[in-house]
Amino acid sequence: MRSLIIAHNDKLLKHDFGLGHPLRSERLRRYFELLEEKGLLKLPNVKVLKTDATVDDEDILAVHDESLLSLIKRLSLKGGLLDADTPVPIGTYEMAKLQAGCFLEAALKVLSGEANAMVQCVAFGGHHATKEHVGFSFGFCYFNQDAIVVRCLQRKGYVKRAVILDCDAHHGNGIQEIFYEDPTVLYVSIHQDPRTLYPGTGFVEEVGAGEGEGYNVNIPLPPRTSDEGYLTAFNEIVRPIVEQFKPDVLLWIFGADTYFADPLANLNLTMKGYAAMADVVTSMAERACEGKLLSVLGGGYDLRASTLAFCLVTAKLADVSVDISDPYDPPAKNEYVKRKVEDVIRRVKNFQGRYWKI
Ligand SMILES: [Zn+2]
Repeated sequence: MRSLIIAHNDKLLKHDFGLGHPLRSERLRRYFELLEEKGLLKLPNVKVLKTDATVDDEDILAVHDESLLSLIKRLSLKGGLLDADTPVPIGTYEMAKLQAGCFLEAALKVLSGEANAMVQCVAFGGHHATKEHVGFSFGFCYFNQDAIVVRCLQRKGYVKRAVILDCDAHHGNGIQEIFYEDPTVLYVSIHQDPRTLYPGTGFVEEVGAGEGEGYNVNIPLPPRTSDEGYLTAFNEIVRPIVEQFKPDVLLWIFGADTYFADPLANLNLTMKGYAAMADVVTSMAERACEGKLLSVLGGGYDLRASTLAFCLVTAKLADVSVDISDPYDPPAKNEYVKRKVEDVIRRVKNFQGRYWKI
């Protein structure tokens, strides 16, 4: 049975984007209530790691420009805005260091063999945060904690090569930018077509540059893709590439904003799709890196569906099944969209076939 660490600090429950914001602070509280209700916190192989660990400025500067760090520090003192969608409440700098620190602490325990996997449900995102703040919207993110953790693990000598597999509905433009010329970090993102969704990046042609060419994989799926198309892309592209790369660790970003009822995106996945996705990810980690899996529960803006999906994924990571089904009726399948998905898969294979056997 796999052992799982759930990284958390109660202070993160206090981070609040404000009334009417789609990322609601109740999400994290409700997630823990559900874990309790479903009996997951009593399992012998599940441990909640409550830690005050923080990352320091040096860890942040290994990924970000000084200008971004000082901007967030300054805004965090009196409160402010990074962009119209990303308020910076007072104390955000400390919260962001704490959220990344919890993640890092749990990740170190996985890398040192104390557990097979870790998971963190985040209070705010990371994958849109670019090296510096260049006027590009920051979509509910401050620092790129995913990149910070990977860089830290590399600097401390725990890993040489890492995969970041991003299954949020949105493309992680920040992660892509940070590692674009780096062959040691393979970024694979499966997201909704950027012509139809923020942040407007993540096209098939973006394959990395310089030494990093071939280490950036984008799979932009059309709206209403649904489980079948998503899982086909997963099995035909994601799985073979990740296994060929042979990482030392797999970092998985799971977004429940791919759910069919999500108010911001419309990839139309269901709970059944999430269960199948989690099975592929855990088996991929087993085959590629001895099961070492770092997981982040990121986007998801339908409170009820997101927390159910997060609970389902957590159970899967702990190797147990829970009784969770769709809280609403799923939409009908669409044959026209199915053909569009097949076209995208064909195009990705054409581009990535230069670098990988797919
Ligand atoms: Zn998202």
